[in-house]
Parts: sequence; C-alpha cells; structure tokens
Amino acid sequence: MKPDNIREVRYMKWLGHAAFGLVSQGGVRILTDPFDNSVPYPHIALECDVVTVSHEHFDHNGVEGLKGSPRVLRAVVGKEATPLDETVGDVRFRVVPSLHDDKGGSLRGPNGIFVMEMPDMTVVHLGDLGHPLDEKTVSAIGKCDVLLVPVGGHYTIDGKTAAQVVRSLRPKVAIAMHFKTSYIKDWPISGPEDFEAEWKSVKKLPPGEFDVDLSPDKLGPETEIWIPAI
Ligand SMILES: [Zn+2]
Repeated sequence: MKPDNIREVRYMKWLGHAAFGLVSQGGVRILTDPFDNSVPYPHIALECDVVTVSHEHFDHNGVEGLKGSPRVLRAVVGKEATPLDETVGDVRFRVVPSLHDDKGGSLRGPNGIFVMEMPDMTVVHLGDLGHPLDEKTVSAIGKCDVLLVPVGGHYTIDGKTAAQVVRSLRPKVAIAMHFKTSYIKDWPISGPEDFEAEWKSVKKLPPGEFDVDLSPDKLGPETEIWIPAI
C-alpha cells in the first residue's frame, strides 16, 4: 500500500522541523524525528514502516498517535546515544552517537545521527547536532549522499557551523532543517539565512513532495544546497 503523502521511491517530503518522510527503493517508508502535537506544524498524517528518533525531546519523539504501527528506532537509550545497527527491508539504519550541545552534552544531552543506507543512496539525518564533527565521527558516518542538517542555531548548530559540517561530510545534496518558519515564529531559532549566505547558490524547494535524483547528469560536482518549504 502506498503512503498517503509520498508517491513512490525517492520521493521525500519535509513535514516541518526535523521531520521528513522518505521511501527507499524497496518501498520502506521512513519518518524521521516526528514532533508531538504541541509543535504548531501541521499534524503528521503520514503512514510509515519505520520511525527514527534522534533523541528524546518533544519536538523529535512524537511517535504517539502516528498512523499504523511503525517500528520505532530510538537513538538514545538512557543517558547515551547507542550505536544501533538494524536492517529493515532494503534499508540499513545505523546510529552514530553525538551530542546536543558543544559542552560535552552537559546542556542538552545526547543526540544520535541516523545513517540510512539504501541500495541507491545513503541519507544521513543529523538530529539536533550541537557541535562540529570531528574526524572520527566523519569516518564513522562514512558515505553520505543526502544530508539533513539543522541550521537554526540556539538548540543546534547555527548556519555557519552547519556549513562547516556539510563541508566535512561532502554530500551530493544537503537539505536544511530545524529553522524558523511562520509556524514557529516565536521559537528562539533562526531562519535559514545564515546558512544560505555560506553558499554561492541555493535551491529553494516548493512546499510538498520533492524528488531526490542523484543521477550524475542531474548534479554538478559541488554539493547542492536545498532549502525546503512547508
Ligand atoms: Zn529540536
């Protein structure tokens, strides 16, 4: 059965904040970091097979009330992010531990980076990353084709540090997330402007589903920067 809002393989949709819906080539429907109902984005009505949760904050772990009975993969167990490694259908999910701040986790605790290895591409979701990546973490992540990167600052890395993280992972496409929009205009995070200013050009996506096509004839040699809309 096809999900409501995603048409087919390779389609993605930004649902607001750090939540994306995506479908693997083999049809595994993934939902990343769903926010709970207190977050004023439109309610998530996506049916999915797997939900990833980067850390246990309300704007990332709203798994209650989701349609169906998806498998929930939680990166943080107890006080730490654990190096989970599970395969569902044609997707291997790995967690690379990281922190939610740049003070050793003392402010906001642990955060898990989800690496989703699919036959045709690897998608990396950084969760609420709070610091630049060291070499060890970069090599633990490994190949990264599509990067979902927080850029709004305050609770996560800001636009400038996000650009540094993009340059260290060198994805084919980096998609900004976790920034201020009209839905969360009172939140103390910034819009994507500082991140955008780091690049020669950025592509603004229209609201709704978008296709991720990594065919060489579709992409240049440089990382493409995409700013989604909702
Ligand atoms: Zn957050």
